[in-house]
Amino acid sequence: MRTLRLVLGDQLSDTLSSLVELDIRQDVVLLAEVMAEAEYVRHHKQKLVMVFAAMRRFADRLRDRGATVRYVRLDDPANTQTLDGEVRRAVSELGPFDRVVLTEPGEWRLHQLVEDMKWTLGEPVEVLEDARFLCRHGEFAAWAEGRKELRMEFFYREMRRKTGLLMDGDRPVGGQWNFDKENRKRLPRGIKAPHRVWIAPDDLTRSVIAEVEARFPDNFGTTARFGWATGHEEAERLLSHFIAEILPGFGDYEDAMAKGSPFLWHGLISAAINIGLVDPMDACRRAEAAWRTGAAPLNAVEGFVRQIIGWREFVRGIYWLQGPDYKKTNALAAEGPLPWFYWSGETDMACVADVVAHTRDYAYAHHIQRLMVTGNLAMLLGVAPAEVDDWYMVVFIDAFEWVELPNTHGMATFADGGIVGSKPYAAGGAYIDRMSDYCGGCRYEVKAKSGPDACPFNLLYWAFLDRNADRLKANPRLAMPYRTLAGFTPARRAEIEREGETIRRRLLGLAP
Ligand SMILES: Cc1cc2nc3c(=O)[nH]c(=O)nc-3n(C[C@H](O)[C@H](O)[C@H](O)COP(=O)(O)OP(=O)(O)OC[C@H]3O[C@@H](n4cnc5c(N)ncnc54)[C@H](O)[C@@H]3O)c2cc1C
Ligand code: SF4
Repeated sequence: MRTLRLVLGDQLSDTLSSLVELDIRQDVVLLAEVMAEAEYVRHHKQKLVMVFAAMRRFADRLRDRGATVRYVRLDDPANTQTLDGEVRRAVSELGPFDRVVLTEPGEWRLHQLVEDMKWTLGEPVEVLEDARFLCRHGEFAAWAEGRKELRMEFFYREMRRKTGLLMDGDRPVGGQWNFDKENRKRLPRGIKAPHRVWIAPDDLTRSVIAEVEARFPDNFGTTARFGWATGHEEAERLLSHFIAEILPGFGDYEDAMAKGSPFLWHGLISAAINIGLVDPMDACRRAEAAWRTGAAPLNAVEGFVRQIIGWREFVRGIYWLQGPDYKKTNALAAEGPLPWFYWSGETDMACVADVVAHTRDYAYAHHIQRLMVTGNLAMLLGVAPAEVDDWYMVVFIDAFEWVELPNTHGMATFADGGIVGSKPYAAGGAYIDRMSDYCGGCRYEVKAKSGPDACPFNLLYWAFLDRNADRLKANPRLAMPYRTLAGFTPARRAEIEREGETIRRRLLGLAP
């Protein structure tokens, strides 16, 4: 069967299901850079560079295997600039083909495009499951069936059993499933973040950087410090350095934040995993081996494995289970505009300024910064979920909707009303102060509860709970803060309402 095999920009894996039966004597593999994909959100410049450079390298890798590859560049004058347009052009110029094959796309938008293509192309289109994930759609749906609440922790245990990772027969190694309580340490004074491998751009990457700078000059971010992996060998360097040198500290300081140190002990591998340069199970097995040989402690390895076979698989399951309308939910009726400082970084809030600055420079912030700084603030301010979701899709190197949306819409802003998380991750300045060194250098006073110098997170936190009492008060996990709120004097309640609203309007850029 002569086959046209379409490979998307986040499907650059040697083991991709649509390439398993590649017949190099007669098949053609199609990779296309198209404006429809480059523009559906205004991606961070580094993300465009990474995806285009990685696609070009993957095309070369396939050619080295003897495959016939049709590679369409963005600046090809004949480029129709849409994926379906490029499939049609390849069929008409290189056909006839017996069929077009692809691995299922990672998001609803492209799922619809492929469904439409099945009706309109005129050639049979076969869509294969994405076997790079552990949990198939049907399996997740079966697990979710009949449950009142979908909680990651229980799903994660299933994935541990299924893979045998960190298992001793049918029991978790170390006698417990989760070592999260050990993973909340603040950075001790004087401890320095470890040196990280950073990939210097070679000729290919440099030429893509020049193209992106010329074609997308106004997109968010800089390319000056681009150092992400764009090929399998580079990704392997990042991963092996992480497992050998960084993983041992991953657990202890997983939630810590430090000014000017965006990476700390994090893996920096999400983008490489998401586009197919790193196999997630391979990363987990190697982490497990590090524990078994005594090279890394269990709390670090369990924490790392949980992020990948737990959270990563769980949010994907939620994304496909909830359907394309998931993103339209707005459980807290938040309608505010996204403040301009999310783009410019120009704010007196030292924590926010730091996170935005390195997001601009590296297209990266680690999990707690995304959740408890920018996400928390957006939720406390009542920014419209669609604006928050768009920001996260734009600014991060690893942003693909299936993983970004449940994290942003569910975990960070509670816009889904509790599908991903059992309560909103809302916190005042004390949390940020406990987990970071930001507050010492901030113009605001983290311990002040009111007044012009008070940390904005403090008043916003209580004002958020007050404003959303009808929606959140019954949540048992919020019983304690609501009891505290109820215990405030009427004067304090009035102050929270008045000052909280004043700060909210000021930060949102609304008239007082
Ligand atoms: C608001 C918000 C938005 C996010 N958007 C994205 C996104 O667009 N793309 C993305 O890949 N991750 C996203 N995450 C999850 C997480 O923040 C990133 O995966 C992580 O910061 C990537 O950096 P790392 O490789 O250094 O991760 P590490 O901290 O080293 O974690 C190891 C790996 O675990 C996986 N992982 C960890 N947490 C999660 C999670 N919550 N969901 C899914 N996978 C996880 C990633 O593959 C990551 O590489 C988001 C989290 C939040 C709170
Ligand atoms: S005082 Fe408040 S605004 Fe300033 S760094 Fe601390 S938490 Fe952020």
